[in-house]
Amino acid sequence: MVLITVHDDKCTGCGSCVDACQNDVLELKDGICFPARMSLCKYCVDCVRSCKFNAIKVFI
Ligand code: SF4
Ligand code: SF4
Repeated sequence: MVLITVHDDKCTGCGSCVDACQNDVLELKDGICFPARMSLCKYCVDCVRSCKFNAIKVFI
């Protein structure tokens, strides 16, 4: 099972991870990234690579 965590103290809501995810897992909610559709995640970690703020983690 995959777990995606977003550190809301680091996330700026820039949206890079949302754009980077080709599986439509992520969305912005109240200015912070939110893993809205975790079941679609393919564990590629493109979201992690796209985040300049080290705010999103994927645990597999
Ligand atoms: S790329 Fe990082 S800072 Fe930007 S919305 Fe995603 S988690 Fe937040
Ligand atoms: S690991 Fe890949 S599929 Fe999963 S949320 Fe991140 S970019 Fe999307």
